[in-house]
Amino acid sequence: MIWNKEMECADRETMRALQLERLQETVKYEYEHVPHYAAKMDKAGVKPEDIVTLEDIALLPFINKEDLAENYPTGLFAQPMENIVRIQSSSGTTGKPKIIGYTKGDMEDWGEAVARGLAMCGAGPNDTVHVAYGYGLFTGGLGAHAGAETLGATVLPMSTGNTARQIMFMQDMKSDILCCTPSYALTIAEAVERAGIDPADLQIRAGLFGAEPWTQSMREKIEKGLGIRAHDIYGLTEITGPGVATSCEANNGMHIQEDLFYPEIVDPNTLKPLPPGETGELVFTTLKKRGVPMVRYRTRDICYLMEGKCSCGRTSVRMSRVFGRTDDMLIVKGVNVFPSQVETVIAKFNELTLNYKILVDRKGGSDSIELMVEFAEGLIIDDIDFVENMRKRVEHALREILQIGCKVRFLNAGTLPRSEGKAVRVEDRRKYE
Ligand code: ADP
Ligand code: ZN
Repeated sequence: MIWNKEMECADRETMRALQLERLQETVKYEYEHVPHYAAKMDKAGVKPEDIVTLEDIALLPFINKEDLAENYPTGLFAQPMENIVRIQSSSGTTGKPKIIGYTKGDMEDWGEAVARGLAMCGAGPNDTVHVAYGYGLFTGGLGAHAGAETLGATVLPMSTGNTARQIMFMQDMKSDILCCTPSYALTIAEAVERAGIDPADLQIRAGLFGAEPWTQSMREKIEKGLGIRAHDIYGLTEITGPGVATSCEANNGMHIQEDLFYPEIVDPNTLKPLPPGETGELVFTTLKKRGVPMVRYRTRDICYLMEGKCSCGRTSVRMSRVFGRTDDMLIVKGVNVFPSQVETVIAKFNELTLNYKILVDRKGGSDSIELMVEFAEGLIIDDIDFVENMRKRVEHALREILQIGCKVRFLNAGTLPRSEGKAVRVEDRRKYE
C-alpha cells in the first residue's frame, strides 16, 4: 500500500517545485527566527532572497553537531516553549545530548513520515504494530508509535528489553509488524529459536528496523530467524527521528520523504555537493519543521542517493544503506575502518554469529585492532587445528577488506552481551590513555 500517493509518487517537476517553495519558506523562517543561523548566513553573505532555484541551497552555510552543542539546550529553537509540545533528545553517542523540540504540526508530520514507512512494509489499519524500540527521549519508540497511530493500526508499546515477554506478547497478541533495532531483532530471533518456537507459528510478517547501521547478511539472518520481511528505516533526532527514509518491498535503497526532508550528498572534505550515485556525507534540510528547523544539517552518515522510479511505483529519491558514520569510523594505523566492513567478513563464515566486538588499543605508540566474535551455537570446539584454521581464514579475510592486520579472538556462543537497543560494536581504549 502507498500511504500518500500524491507525495510519494509525484512527478519530478511537481516535487521539485514543492521543494523549492518549502525551501524558500524554511530559509526565510530560519533567518527570522534563529539568530545563530541568521548570523551564519550574514557571515556567508547570503540572504533568503538569494534562494531562487533548488541548486542555490549550496550557497547556504551548514549546521553542524557543534552548532547544537554551542547552543545547548534550546538555542536553535525557532518557537517559544508554549508552542513546543514535545522534547526528544539523541542518545548522545558523543558529548552533550542534542535537544529537539516539536510543534504540534511537526508531530503530525513525523507520524505521517513513519506511517508511509509502515505502509511500505505492508502494514495497514488492521495490523498490530509491536514497538520494541526504547520509549523515552530516544526517538525510536515514540516515533514508531506515532506512525502506527497515524496509520490507524493497533499499537503495542512494548519498549525494549525483557525478550521473553516480547515473544509472549508476539504470540498472544498476534503482532503483525515488529519495530526495533536490527541488533535487537537478532536477539529476539535467537531467543525464539532457543525457546523451540517455529517462526512460522508467529503471525508477524514484516519489520521496520533501524537506528543503527546493519548489513544485507544481518537482514537475511533476521528474515530467516523470524520468518518475516525486513525493511530498513532511517532517521535522526535532529531531523525528526525515524521515518526520514524507509525501504520498500523492492529492497533497493530507502525512499526519502522528500516533501519533508531535502537530501544532499557532499564530499566530507571539500563540502562540495556530489551527484547521485556518488558516496559521501548525507546532509538534510527540513522543509516543514517549525520547532527546530534544520538547514543543511550535516548528519555524518555515509551513503549515496539514487534517482529514478522504483519498481514499487514510488518516484521519491532513495538513499542507499548507511555504510557507517564519520564519527563511527575508526582510524587504525592511519587506515579507515568501519564496523560494517568487519561485519561483512564475519557474515561469510557459517561457523560464526553476528555477535561481535571490535577492540582498538595503542601500545608502545602503535595501534592494534582485535575482533572478538562468537562461534555459532552448537559448534563443539575441541579441535585445536579447527580453531587455528578458522583463525587463519578469518584473519586473512579481514586483512583483504581492511588492508591492515586484525587479530581474532573466538568466544563461545552466548558470551557477549546481547543488544536491546543500539548495539555497541567498538571499544576504543586509545581514548583513555
Ligand atoms: P545518536 O545515535 O547520534 O545519539 P539518534 O538516536 O538520533 O542519535 O540516531 C541517529 C543516527 O542513527 C543516524 O544519524 C545514523 O547514524 C543512525 N541510523 C539511524 N537509522 C539508521 C539506519 N537505518 N541505518 C544506519 N544507521 C542508522
Ligand atoms: Zn520502492
